Amino acid sequence: MHKFTKIIASIGPKCEDKKTLTKMIEAGIDLCRLNFSHDTGKVQGKKIDLIRNISEKLNVPIGIIIDLQGPKHRIGDFKTEDKYPLKIGQKFIFDSASKLGDSTRVQLPDSDVLNSLKAGDRILLNDGKIEMVVDSASPGKVETRVLRGTEIWSRRGFNLPDTEISTSVLTEKDKKDLEYALTKNPDWVAISFVQKPEDIAEVRDFIVARTSHPVKIIAKIERPNAVERITEIASVADGIMIARGDLAVEVPFEKMPAISRHIIRECRKMNKPVIMATQMLGSMVNSEFPTRAEITDVANTAYLRADSAMTSEETTIGVNPVNVIETMSKILEYADYDVIANPYEWSRVENIPENDWSRSVASMAYLNKASAIVVFARDIDIATQISCRKPEIPIIAVCRERLIANQLCLIRGVAPIYDEDLFAKKDAFNSARLFGVNCGKLVIVDEDKISLRTLD
Ligand code: PEP
Repeated sequence: MHKFTKIIASIGPKCEDKKTLTKMIEAGIDLCRLNFSHDTGKVQGKKIDLIRNISEKLNVPIGIIIDLQGPKHRIGDFKTEDKYPLKIGQKFIFDSASKLGDSTRVQLPDSDVLNSLKAGDRILLNDGKIEMVVDSASPGKVETRVLRGTEIWSRRGFNLPDTEISTSVLTEKDKKDLEYALTKNPDWVAISFVQKPEDIAEVRDFIVARTSHPVKIIAKIERPNAVERITEIASVADGIMIARGDLAVEVPFEKMPAISRHIIRECRKMNKPVIMATQMLGSMVNSEFPTRAEITDVANTAYLRADSAMTSEETTIGVNPVNVIETMSKILEYADYDVIANPYEWSRVENIPENDWSRSVASMAYLNKASAIVVFARDIDIATQISCRKPEIPIIAVCRERLIANQLCLIRGVAPIYDEDLFAKKDAFNSARLFGVNCGKLVIVDEDKISLRTLD
């Protein structure tokens, strides 16, 4: 059974050896995510080489996503490594002074961030376990009141859900990491803490100034202001990640499912792929079995017709990363089968004009009960747009470039084949056979030419 919903595996210490990674790819990985919050430079470069090597050896396209850390904020150090008690309602100060913190104040090292805060803004520390509200703000100092939390200690990360932060989306570290990563020709680059469409333009300019390699850009949606501007951001990015880890800190957690559905719906209209990320099988960091809730969450990714589900710590530091991918594949394959078996239970094309060509391709496939759609892919756009119409049959994308095949690994329902010869001959029949479709009708798409042929 063709797997429609794709799997992205975050690669870390527990799965970066050749044997484990090979098994994980055989178990169903479509793309690997390399998180530059942890390793950087040549250490990540070696992982890229290893993935490329396995992909070539197994003759399966595997996409590589470089995930940049972005402006992740941390408070300064305290006088000791102890935890300092907090009382609800007490005052607490963040300032620019470099002296060590105590139970009344601590340094907030990034002055741009400190000076972006205004009265009424919330500060959420330690994954939202501590909540403070700014009572007054002056240059280099904010006075807050504690609303939630019992203790604070050195270098806690924090989120500012109400604050537009006026720094660049690329930190100096990101620029260095991206500069290096571009020398390794990655397929996708994911940008953290995007706030506005201009952030994507800034990253694209940075890339274009350094390379002609057409890497695609994923905007990670993890801030409320990015959710508000999702349509504008999706129109300029090449893909979207619902980064639920930080997003669920920055927005009220009960809104997460509604926000996810909204993002998927908007992206479908904009013909952009969506990744569902974080804590998909989180309990499998320590366990061989997923929880019932996790099984449902992974299956819902397929039911909502997102393009890809992503693993995080369950593969980077989990007890059995191969088992995680086998588990995810099993859940997604069954959910995909169920979606296809009951197509009308799930919402179909919304707000797409009747005369849209990609809608016509999906209708032609549906009305003729086609076995597959074969696309001769010069770039990712045509196959991606057809995928967004959810034809619910395999879209076999024959690519003349390995890069295009790797990038298409992200797209729901698309089976990329890298074969220059099949592409040059426009050989739809042998492409379908190579994928395992041996009879039935094929809808064939080559640039603006759409045809229907019978394979027997
Ligand atoms: C997230 O916040 O969900 C996420 C994917 O980002 P990161 O793991 O880089 O914090």
